[in-house]
Amino acid sequence: MELKITRVKTSKELPDDSKLGFGQIFTDHMFNMDYTPESGWHNARIEPYAPIVMDPATMVLHYGQAIFEGLKAYRTTNGKIQLFRPDRNMARLNRSAQLVCIPKIDEGFVLHALKKLISMDKAWVPKAPETSLYIRPTIVAMDPYLGVRPSHTYRFFIILSPVGAYYPEGFNPVKIWVTDQYVRAVKGGLGEAKTPANYAASLYGAEVAKKAGYTQVLWLDAVEHRYIEEVGTMNILFVINGEIVTPPLKGSILAGITRDSVLTLARHWNIPVTERPITINEVISAHKDGSLQEIFGSGTAAVISPVSHLAWQGEVLTIADGRVGPMAQKFYNAITDIQYGRAEDPFGWVVPVEEEE
Ligand SMILES: *Cc1c(COP(=O)(O)O)cnc(C)c1O
Repeated sequence: MELKITRVKTSKELPDDSKLGFGQIFTDHMFNMDYTPESGWHNARIEPYAPIVMDPATMVLHYGQAIFEGLKAYRTTNGKIQLFRPDRNMARLNRSAQLVCIPKIDEGFVLHALKKLISMDKAWVPKAPETSLYIRPTIVAMDPYLGVRPSHTYRFFIILSPVGAYYPEGFNPVKIWVTDQYVRAVKGGLGEAKTPANYAASLYGAEVAKKAGYTQVLWLDAVEHRYIEEVGTMNILFVINGEIVTPPLKGSILAGITRDSVLTLARHWNIPVTERPITINEVISAHKDGSLQEIFGSGTAAVISPVSHLAWQGEVLTIADGRVGPMAQKFYNAITDIQYGRAEDPFGWVVPVEEEE
C-alpha cells in the first residue's frame, strides 16, 4: 500500500525534556488509515496532528468498539532511535481486533508506517535520561449508526507523545488494594483484548482504592474472587522461595509484552518461573511464613513496578520491608538497558528506526 505524506507547515514548540509528564503533549504528525468493506484498509497517510471530526451517532461513541496499543520509542546512548518488540504490539493489536470484530491490519505495513512517522517527528524523541516517545495506535468503529452490530467502517490512527521518566527520583514502590467486590474482566469476555471497555470497568474500583490511599487495584478472578489476575495496566509477578510465579494467560488477562520479557529473561538466567493459577490466600500465607520475597508489576509505562503494600480484607501486608527487591531491580535494569541501547540485546528485541535526513 502507498503511504501518502503531508508535512506540517510550522512545527509546534518542542517541550523541555526534563519537565515531561505522561500523555499530555502530542507531536506534529499522526498516521491515519480508513477501512471500508469495498476497499479494505486504504488511504494510509501521515499528516499534521489534528482532531477527528465525528458524527454524534458514530458507533464507537455508543458501543465502545475500539482497540489500542501502547509502546515506546527510545533514544539510545549513541543518539539513535529504537523500538522495543514492536512486532508483538502489532500482533496483539490483531488479536484484540479479532475479539471485538474489527478487521485485521497488515502488521508489516503498519510497522513500516510507524517507523516513517517517528522518523518525521524524530525531534520529539526526548533525550533526557529514562524519557521516551510513547506510541498509541488505535482503531475505532466509524459508522454513524445507532444499532448494535459490528461497524462496517473504521479509522486507524497512531499518535505520539513524548513522556518523562516514570521514576524521576528513583524506583518508587506502590501500594496496592486487592478487591473481592469489583471485577475487571471474566473469561470468555474481553480481558484478553486491549480495549477501552476494560478500562471503563476498572474506574470505579480504582476510585474506591484511591480514597483508601492506594494507587492501584489488584483484580481477582470474576467468578470465585480467589485467583489473582492482574493490576489492569500491568501484569503481576510474585517471588516465592526464589521462584517467580505469575498467573497464566487464560483469557481474562492481557498478554503483556513486558511480562513476556521478564519471563524470557528469568529463563535465560535460570531463575525458576511458573505460570500457574495463584490465589490471594496463597500469597497471604506465603507472606505469613516468610517465603514471599517480592511482588512487582510489569508494563510498558513503568517497566517494573515494585509493590510495597498489599491491602486485603482489612489487613495490610508490607512486602519486602517496603523496599525495592533485588529481582525487581534486576529486571528493571536489564530491560531498560536493552531499550536504551546500554546493553547487548541477545533476544533480537530492538528494532531501529531509520532516521530521515
Ligand atoms: C497494556 C496492558 C498491560 C501491560 O502490557 P505491556 O505489553 O507489558 O505494556 C497489562 N494489562 C493490561 C490490562 C493492559 O492493557
